[in-house]
Amino acid sequence: MIDIKLFAQLQNKSKNSFANQRKLIKKVMAGQTVLCATCQLPLFLITPEHSARVNSENSGIGCKKGCTDIQLDFV
Ligand SMILES: [Zn+2]
Repeated sequence: MIDIKLFAQLQNKSKNSFANQRKLIKKVMAGQTVLCATCQLPLFLITPEHSARVNSENSGIGCKKGCTDIQLDFV
């Protein structure tokens, strides 16, 4: 049995964090300094060429420590 109410809550949560991520991405791309919520280090744009991750084909936004790691899907 799926708890519909809980499911809706979860959906809402992920919607919100998605909106937050988009805001964050916009800021970083606009050259604004955004700090990682966890380590307080500035976030930066990761391009596939600069990414240390093996097989990473996506760009993203992350911090030095890696606690923030947002994937961007440029298709
Ligand atoms: Zn961090």
